[in-house]
This record gives sequence, structure tokens and C-alpha cells, in this order.
Amino acid sequence: MNLEDRLNTELAELDALGLRRRRRVLDSPCGRLATVDGRELLNFASNDYLGLAANRDIAQAMADGALLWGAGSGASHLVSGHLAPHEALESEIAAFTGFPRALTLSTGYLANLAVTPTLAGRGAAVFADKLNHASLIDAMQLAKANGAEVQRYPHNDVAALERLLAASPAGTKLIVTDAVFSMDGDLAPLPLLFQLAERFNAWLVIDDAHGFGVLGPHGRGSLAHFNLPAHPRILLMGTLGKAAGVGGAFVAGSELAIDYLLNKARSYIFTTAAPPAVACALRRSLAIIDAGEALRAALFANIGRLRDGLAALRWPLLPSLTAIQPLIVGDNAAAVALSAALRERGLWVPAIRPPTVPKGTARLRISVSAAHTADDIDRLVATLKELA
Ligand SMILES: *Cc1c(COP(=O)(O)O)cnc(C)c1O
Repeated sequence: MNLEDRLNTELAELDALGLRRRRRVLDSPCGRLATVDGRELLNFASNDYLGLAANRDIAQAMADGALLWGAGSGASHLVSGHLAPHEALESEIAAFTGFPRALTLSTGYLANLAVTPTLAGRGAAVFADKLNHASLIDAMQLAKANGAEVQRYPHNDVAALERLLAASPAGTKLIVTDAVFSMDGDLAPLPLLFQLAERFNAWLVIDDAHGFGVLGPHGRGSLAHFNLPAHPRILLMGTLGKAAGVGGAFVAGSELAIDYLLNKARSYIFTTAAPPAVACALRRSLAIIDAGEALRAALFANIGRLRDGLAALRWPLLPSLTAIQPLIVGDNAAAVALSAALRERGLWVPAIRPPTVPKGTARLRISVSAAHTADDIDRLVATLKELA
């Protein structure tokens, strides 16, 4: 079959399965309300957990930054694209997370590709949670291509991981995990993973995309939530397009690890540095996160209100304490129909189906934000009760 025929066939297959994707165009900034197709929807679909994506001060910092530093960085960081705002942001992220040093990258996807495949090549073993984010899975595939041995352990199964570590003769071992799992909202048992890392002399690579800004004192993230140290064999990745409301990502770690990544990580080296104005916006966002106890209090009040409201519903919520609140519907078509019924009633809650989640666990992924009001949460609860 030629390529054109294959593409047409595969898209037709997606159509037949009701799995063909299309994008919705928003006619409004990201916020609690989204204007789509001329209608205003209450938005439970974004990862803007603190409501910072359309924050005026951050937008102003970006505008001021663009006028001061120009629109583009002009080159990769190692050539001539590393401007003073980038450097300042990295120092501030390092101080914020408690690690000696941090590196910023254009996206979380690129940040994950920078870490595992760069640290784990021939003679290394990578141990990865089965429910890790797609970007970590791709990073694992690259590590495999670089000669690393890769093993996936059942979700949060510390005993299984312990057996794999004990049986591995590899000189370099990396445990790689989401800190907050993106489709379930649950936390990795980081203290136990850290103990295993200590015992087996392994490194711990943590993707804190959904914990950074949200969990721990000052929103310092999942490590701080568990009171874990900024250990030299921990690498902490965080994204800056979710709670931070802008875009980009960082990797924080020891001086040695970060300097090595700066020298060797291909997804850091061979790409243009983010616009300096993005770094200016992120510096402002970081200050807001640091002082954002009221925002986090509002977020957690909303999470609690939603969980209380949906406690006796026919569809169960997963036991998540984070802003990701999955409502398990089970059947694919039923999840899609529920999402569509909510949309008709002005509520935007995406349905997530296999293969993104395991078979039989199609769900609504409710994203709660500090920007939601109590009335917004009540409206979602009331509508779901009516539909049940
Ligand atoms: C969103 C996400 C990423 C990717 O981050 P981007 O900045 O959007 O590229 C990586 N890991 C996890 C767990 C995520 O949820």
C-alpha cells in the first residue's frame, strides 16, 4: 500500500471507531470560561490549576519583556540564545526548588527527552512506572535506542520495583516516574521510591508536571509535599505551562547532573531557546506561585467541594487529592456521551478513552482550578447528578 492510501485508511479507521481527533478553536483566553463556536462554556479541561494563564501581571511582564529583549532568542542556548532573563529564571527555579542548579527547556516533552536518554545508555537500566506520561515513554524508547535496558513496573507497585532493582546487574539505574499521574491524579509513593533509590544506588527522575505550583509549601511541588531532600541523585522535572500558566519546563538537580545535561542533552542543545519574554513572564509567575497560598487554598477548597458533591454519584471519582479529578464511567461510548451532554449544558469536561487509559476505564477528566468559583463547582455537580 502506498503512503497516501495508508494514511487515508488509518484515518478512516479512526473515524469508524469514533476516535478521530479534531481541535476546538477557543475565541477567548484560557480561563474559567471558554468561548467555543460562539458559545461560552465553563472550562474544566485546562491544566491552568492556579488560573494564571491569563493573569494580567504575567501578561504585562511578557509584554514588557518583549519590548526590552525582543521577540526571539535568535539561537540555541549554547550558541547565543541564552539571554539574561533565561539565566535569571534558572537561578530562581533552582532557589525555589532547593536544588543547586536548574536548566530550562521549551516544553516538558523536550525536558523529558533531555533527561533519561542522556543519562541512560549502554550498561544502564531504566525502571519506569506503567502509567508514566507519553513523553516519559518516548524518553524511555530513546534510552533503549541508546542501549539502555528498560523495564516497566506495575503502577506504583513498590514491591515489584524492588524485585526488578534487586535482580538488575546494571551499573547505572534510573527510576523514572510521574509524581502526579496525569490521567489518574494520584501521587507516586516518592518516599518509598527514594528509599529504594538509596538502597540500590539508583537515580530518581521525577516528572512533577502536575505537582509543581500546586503541592507542598509555596507550591514547591511533590518533593516538598513529601518533605524529601534535593538529593544529588534526584532530577526533578517540572512544566511551566500548567500551574505556572505560561509554557516551558525545567530540570533541577545537582551542579554535576545539570552541567552534564547542558553539555549532552540533544533536546536541549539542538533547539532554539524560548523567547526571552517567556522567561520574563515565568519570573513573574514564579513570584506569584511563591506567594500563592490563597490561590492554592482556593484550588483545594474547590477540589474538596467537588469531591463532596460527587461522593454518592453512580460514577466513582478516583481517590485523587490533586487538581486532576477523574470520574470513571467505564464504557467508551458512555463517557463520550456524558461529555457531550455536559457540553450541551455549557460545561466542558473532556472524555478520556483507551489507549490513553486502560480498557474499561473511560473517564471524564475534570480539571479543577483556583479560578473556578464555588458556584461553578456546584453547577458541575448538579449537572452530573441530573445526568446520572
Ligand atoms: C503535560 C505533561 C508533560 C509535557 O509537558 P509540556 O510542557 O506540555 O510539553 C510531561 N509530563 C507530564 C506528566 C505532563 O502532564
